Amino acid sequence: MAASKCINHDYRDAVGRCRQCHKPLCGECQLVTEEGVFCGEECYEKTKAFHARVAAMEQSEKPKRKLPAGLGCLLKLAVFVLIVVLALYFFLGIDSIDSFLELISKLKGKLLPR
Ligand SMILES: [Zn+2]
Ligand SMILES: [Zn+2]
Repeated sequence: MAASKCINHDYRDAVGRCRQCHKPLCGECQLVTEEGVFCGEECYEKTKAFHARVAAMEQSEKPKRKLPAGLGCLLKLAVFVLIVVLALYFFLGIDSIDSFLELISKLKGKLLPR
């Protein structure tokens, strides 16, 4: 008495349930596919579309996981530049952007004589 009846045949005991909507189905109403048991094409297509979306998401997530490595390199470069600027600031007595640019132009004059 507790057994579920088929959604289409209320006099038949259900032998399985749709994987998508979980409706009880008799042997005749089951749509058996490689994805499982469904009540019809609609639920079968829904599950296939869902799996395709999950697979597409998993594929598109993989390249994103490589990004932090590239960001790490950029961060190291930024820290290196900061250390160089701080070293110039402390060891060469540069206390403003103007004197820093002055030093750069002096260095340019030395390195690139006209
Ligand atoms: Zn269904
Ligand atoms: Zn049925």
